[in-house]
Amino acid sequence: MGEGTLRRNVLRAMLGVVAADVMMAGGMMWANADVTPRVYTRKEWGAAPPRRPSRVLDRAPDHIIVHHTASPNVPSLSRAHAFALSRQIQHDHMQSQGWDDIGEQLTISRGGHVMEGRAGSLQAIQQGRLVVGAQSLHHNDHTIGIENEGTYLKEDVPGGLWESLVGVCVWLCTAHQLDPAVAIIGHRDYNQTDCPGDVLYRRLPRLREEVARALDDLARRTGPPPPDERRRMTSRHHRRLRDHPG
Ligand SMILES: [Zn+2]
Repeated sequence: MGEGTLRRNVLRAMLGVVAADVMMAGGMMWANADVTPRVYTRKEWGAAPPRRPSRVLDRAPDHIIVHHTASPNVPSLSRAHAFALSRQIQHDHMQSQGWDDIGEQLTISRGGHVMEGRAGSLQAIQQGRLVVGAQSLHHNDHTIGIENEGTYLKEDVPGGLWESLVGVCVWLCTAHQLDPAVAIIGHRDYNQTDCPGDVLYRRLPRLREEVARALDDLARRTGPPPPDERRRMTSRHHRRLRDHPG
């Protein structure tokens, strides 16, 4: 973490907001607006304590991995159901998989409720860091994972879930200075899996576009950066996945 990053993070911590930097294609813009969605904490959904403290890396993730939970496409859109979903996933991951904690950093229910996943994830995002999850084999130390409730091999994605997924990606791209065009990928891009389902996977180009548009709007509303904050967009993490299939 460079000094500039540290200063911005201190500023973010003081302001209590995550949004500070918005990257745009072909250059950079600086925005200052709070794009943090309502994320229900582990305490709110009743998480069990992790077996071991989370591993936190002092760097941001370079990719956002979109998953589906492969659980039934339930009709319930309630918050109570969403909290139960997180508890169920955590139980499965800890008891059946033997993991230290729930695998993903963020969970979105079919009703669009967003829950914190692995312990410390919210704070890490706010600090530009990465809590290492268990959501993509061989890629956990540089990616952040979003589990979207349901099975999207054939069925379409509910509107509430989609809206939240866009919002969460805007938040993550802002917090971690990611270009949605290259940062947002599907689980199957890295591992041999159906996840996140053909339907949701085919929607990823639209997700990247909607997130990019939201970031552009944000940057336009908040104006260009002050001169001393100007930085160049880097693409060192942004290798095109089709050149490097998982
Ligand atoms: Zn997955």
